[in-house]
Amino acid sequence: MSKFDGFTRDVENVNRRWQNRGCSVGAMLAALDAEDRAEVQSALDRRELTSVAIYNALLPRVGSACPSSYTINRHRNQSCTCEVETK
Ligand SMILES: [Zn+2]
Repeated sequence: MSKFDGFTRDVENVNRRWQNRGCSVGAMLAALDAEDRAEVQSALDRRELTSVAIYNALLPRVGSACPSSYTINRHRNQSCTCEVETK
């Protein structure tokens, strides 16, 4: 019995979980009501606003649900897991 029995299956399971979940920005947006989501989305779409600035404005509003500025940046660059499904 090798340590690597079922390795690919484990990777597939984790991968599927991540794809289903999306990143924490997507999760936070999904939890907001439509009006708030549109407000945050419009800030995310303005490239002149930095992800750090968005993080700092989000933090007092969403508290522990606030994604890191790194995650916000990744979401804006569409290199996060939730963009896979929306493309
Ligand atoms: Zn995302």
